[in-house]
Amino acid sequence: MKRAKNYRPATQLIHGGVNRTSFDETSDAVFLTSGFIYDSAEQAELTFKGEADRYQYSRFNNPNLTSLENRLSELEGAEACALTSTGMSAIYASLIPLVKSGDRVVASRALFGSSYWIIENLLPQMGVETIFVDGTDLQQWEQALSKPTAAVLIETPSNPMLDILDIQAIAELTHRAGGKLIVDNVFATPLYQHPLQWGADIVVYSCTKHIDGQGRVLGGAVLANKNIIQDHITPFVRNTGIGLSPFNAWVLFKGLETLPLRVEKMTQNALACAEFLEKSEHISRVLYPGLKSHPHYDLGQKQMSASSTMIGFEIKGGKKAAFTFMNALELILLSNNLGDSRCIVTHPATTTHMKIGEAERLHLGITDGSIRFSVGIEDIQDIIEDLQQGLDAVAALANTNR
Ligand SMILES: *Cc1c(COP(=O)(O)O)cnc(C)c1O
Repeated sequence: MKRAKNYRPATQLIHGGVNRTSFDETSDAVFLTSGFIYDSAEQAELTFKGEADRYQYSRFNNPNLTSLENRLSELEGAEACALTSTGMSAIYASLIPLVKSGDRVVASRALFGSSYWIIENLLPQMGVETIFVDGTDLQQWEQALSKPTAAVLIETPSNPMLDILDIQAIAELTHRAGGKLIVDNVFATPLYQHPLQWGADIVVYSCTKHIDGQGRVLGGAVLANKNIIQDHITPFVRNTGIGLSPFNAWVLFKGLETLPLRVEKMTQNALACAEFLEKSEHISRVLYPGLKSHPHYDLGQKQMSASSTMIGFEIKGGKKAAFTFMNALELILLSNNLGDSRCIVTHPATTTHMKIGEAERLHLGITDGSIRFSVGIEDIQDIIEDLQQGLDAVAALANTNR
């Protein structure tokens, strides 16, 4: 078998992790099987003892999962990977095995809605003390991590307002407190940021986003060194049954083939959209890591190899104006997915971030005019014309209110 290890990402994502069967197929086979057959009772015994290197049961492992684990590990520069049914089960599987009752967990406040729920509600129910900090304020991190802490969870760039957090500084403080740093790297994608290089211990993905990127399947991945994955994450995933299905693993494996093409095009389009939006008099704020106006532009330049496929912006005129803008769009879809090949806008205050309450929302900078924009790979002229159509509707609204 040819080795893909030393190739650059775009090549590795086509050839890495390939596990051809004896039929020498070009495209990878799908192993839709719940179980595997043993040659002998002795082999079954050895397999259960962990002494035979073979497949056993698809809740435990499957060739499609192995292929995806290898391809993702190589891309991330991680020793090992555990795959899960969704991004949320990846977050859950990265946290729960590290904590027990009486432990402490610190997290940045700007988190994906369900991650916030786990920290806010679920962990305290299990006897874990949880603390939220403003992720961009290092003084708050220093204070929160002045006591022993089992785990820290951050997202950077964050959802939905694209704060950029200093992974290296937070990793140092986390380690001093005796904990492990988990980074949700969805917004950065595995192409633009490698948190392990900056001292993070665990990287988590919702593969539903850029990795599939075509709105087909859900999936999640946890990447870390062998000890963390083998001793903590994999047993938890296998025994609780939150692993990825072989079919979804296959879809994601194919998705990775075009990941660089899609993400680069999306990023190019996103920069053009951010520059366009920044010029509009109907928009009070554009948050895009590739614009010099981004409050953490320098940190983004240091920590990431390129900016983002995501934009946060604020329409003047609150909810009415934001809804008017969104309803006037024809090409850009209203949905809560992101990282897709099609453009998608979301109104966080009334959807993804509805449950966290107004005070917390405003603290995060999510106003009634805030819009999260996941930029797709469509022709940039069509995208800009659609944005213009939305802005024209906002202008018309502003005129009638005058
Ligand atoms: C979507 C998302 C998740 C959750 O992933 P699912 O696949 O929907 O479970 C977690 N974190 C971030 C940043 C996300 O965008």
